[in-house]
Amino acid sequence: MIILMDKEATSEQIHAVMEMITARGLRALSLPGSDHVAIGIASAIAPDVRPDLFNSLKAMPGVGHVVHVSRPYKLASREFHAASSIVRVRTVEIGGDACVLIAGPCAVENRDQIFRTAEAVKRAGAKLLRGGAFKPRTSPYSFQGLHQEGLELLREAGERFEIATVTEVIDPHDVDTVKQYVDMLQIGARNMQNFPLLIAAGKSGHPVLLKRGPSATLDEFLFAAEYILAQENDNVVLCERGVHPLDRTYTRNTLDLNAVPVLKDISHLPVIVDPSHGIGFARYVPAVSRAAIAAGADGLIVEVHPDPQKALSDGQQSLTPEQFETLVVSLRCVAQAIGREIA
Ligand code: PEP
Ligand code: MN
Repeated sequence: MIILMDKEATSEQIHAVMEMITARGLRALSLPGSDHVAIGIASAIAPDVRPDLFNSLKAMPGVGHVVHVSRPYKLASREFHAASSIVRVRTVEIGGDACVLIAGPCAVENRDQIFRTAEAVKRAGAKLLRGGAFKPRTSPYSFQGLHQEGLELLREAGERFEIATVTEVIDPHDVDTVKQYVDMLQIGARNMQNFPLLIAAGKSGHPVLLKRGPSATLDEFLFAAEYILAQENDNVVLCERGVHPLDRTYTRNTLDLNAVPVLKDISHLPVIVDPSHGIGFARYVPAVSRAAIAAGADGLIVEVHPDPQKALSDGQQSLTPEQFETLVVSLRCVAQAIGREIA
């Protein structure tokens, strides 16, 4: 439910509405983005109290309109927040007119690898450097990441080449540590419904890149975002990274580009696309990257490795720095064709 106050509403009247909501055990939030004061009720309202609450609020002095929000995830919905949100990661704005490129290796492997990648992707136009220190691998025998050393190398590379950083966190207990090393936390597809992790990332106040689970519906995805937003952390970027495919012969996942315009329509949160995990083979990554920008994505996260054949994870889907540079040139043309640009 959203309460739109009259333009002339006094601060006492606004306060009285907030009090009335909290006195019923519900959470009242003042909402940005309106020339009138707007108050939202973030908690679920039981159906039997809804009509009475609606009438009581409508009758209060200073109240203009009371509107039901039909979507169950309120904070993530565009009904709740009409203007598109911009998430700031250091000086980088995700969700504005310009599309933002995030690039880097699947995993941080050593100093030379992350430094060479950082320098190359920065030069090519990436605004954030990615690199996993904790890798959620399907097999326990696969490379699991350098953990602490990986965090330190990523931070060093970010500082040396003046580029913001993002890395995945897989354990809620690591959130506070990881936050000290990077500018943005990534919650991976496998952890999209790890609720303690979502809550810990929300409480951190740090920007969060939330990936869609491979079998998650868009409603489940937005509920996951809601967990973070409900901790009063507005800095959430959604990432489509492909859903379970019908057939793994030719692609790793099926990149659901439908999700891009739909999420942009029903939510105010920025939406980016991961073409690397989405299709899973480097030779197809440029085509789907361009398609994602054409579909309205606010950015891309692309895996780039200085020597993909020797990569310890996801080499088959990683671009070389040269391939990434060539891709960026074509992305600029696509962005321009739809009235946007690459940041
Ligand atoms: C990754 O970005 O390296 C990763 C593991 O992605 P996802 O969670 O989308 O599989
Ligand atoms: Mn990967």
